[in-house]
Amino acid sequence: MTRIVRTVIVKSVKLPRKAFRVFIELKDIYRNMVEQLVLYAVRNNIKSFTKLKALKYHEMKSLYPQLPSHYVYTACQDANTRTKSFLRLKKLGLAKRDYPEVRKVSIWLDDHLWKPNGYTSIKIATHRGWVTVEFEPHKQYWKYINRGWKLVSEAKIKLDKRNRQLIIYLIFVKEIEKCRPRGYLPVDVNENNVTMLVDNIAYTFETGTEKLVLGYHYRRKGIQKKYDKHYGKKSRIKRKAMRKLKERKKKLDIRWKIANIIVKTAYEKQYSIVLERLGKKPANNMIARIKDKQLRHRIFQASFRSIQRAIEEKAKEHGVTVIYVNPKNTSRLCPVHDAPINYNDNSRIGKCGKGGELWHRDVVACWNLLLKALRGDGSYAPNLVGLDVDVGLVPLASNATHDSIGIPKSLWARWKSLPQTQKAIVLNKMKR
Ligand SMILES: [Zn+2]
Repeated sequence: MTRIVRTVIVKSVKLPRKAFRVFIELKDIYRNMVEQLVLYAVRNNIKSFTKLKALKYHEMKSLYPQLPSHYVYTACQDANTRTKSFLRLKKLGLAKRDYPEVRKVSIWLDDHLWKPNGYTSIKIATHRGWVTVEFEPHKQYWKYINRGWKLVSEAKIKLDKRNRQLIIYLIFVKEIEKCRPRGYLPVDVNENNVTMLVDNIAYTFETGTEKLVLGYHYRRKGIQKKYDKHYGKKSRIKRKAMRKLKERKKKLDIRWKIANIIVKTAYEKQYSIVLERLGKKPANNMIARIKDKQLRHRIFQASFRSIQRAIEEKAKEHGVTVIYVNPKNTSRLCPVHDAPINYNDNSRIGKCGKGGELWHRDVVACWNLLLKALRGDGSYAPNLVGLDVDVGLVPLASNATHDSIGIPKSLWARWKSLPQTQKAIVLNKMKR
């Protein structure tokens, strides 16, 4: 069993002035407490929540007698987290001040300080008694409610002063049983596509990540340049433009869609997903072409790792296991002959040095990932024992293995899972 945790953010309805004022007061008191506690903890080098609470509980409680006493607990927890991260930064020489600044505050709530009130409102304990707050449920929220996720007793609230709303951070958990895999689903992630091998058939999802990530980077640079020149480095109008760009980028976020298709396929077949264990070195063409070191690093992070991470996250949700294998030579060796494959220039099609057959680079990578998983020479890969997969039966020599079914983004972006038959894909492709 694994426990997965998700935070879901909902917004309250616009609150009446009077009710909202209560929360402004509450936040000010809470902030005061956290400030005092952090100051004290840093000054006395207290890294333990229990110790901090033991030393300051009565003082805080007497300072704010109207406040429900559990706010002292949560403020101590909050302060403790801030203290620890500040001391860590200080140790690394990265802290600019002697004491941490308590700037952004969200009020931490525990089971004594709030409770659900039906499905669309909560009650919050304040220094002026319980206040009921209605919120606006959205699709994602209902998804968690309807799919058996449980609300935990901790929550946080933030104040949106301009709109007189509370931003409520609800935390859901779910226990998920991991099933034993019946086979493997290797997935190769590279600069312009994601390829997966399902029962000997390779599917290539075109992503155009390079274009997407680079395009975004240059647009961002463009905005920075334009606004910095006219309004200075810290203008509000620039922040707004950046936010808009970010939102648009999120919408275009293809990672989750790909992850969904892959994980659903693995889930239905009860397969484990096999991924390359990505090292720190960005060893690929796209990265090599970019000269700016930092940018290169960022793009690497953004495109490859994050697709993997999206797959991991989704896999966890569905109880699908993910295993990692060593990426060494995955696209360089022929999986049949164990001989080097020669690629001419920048071609993605190569010729096996021994057998002379042609291979598509991404398909080779998948086959090798599969073989590595089956042989168990990835560090986390299980042994073959007990799995009903027969290595001998894998039809490596058949023609179908050498190429993949390419699926353009315009097509798969609308899918929720892999269509039932190959025909559906081919047909769809022809229609375009
Ligand atoms: Zn070969």
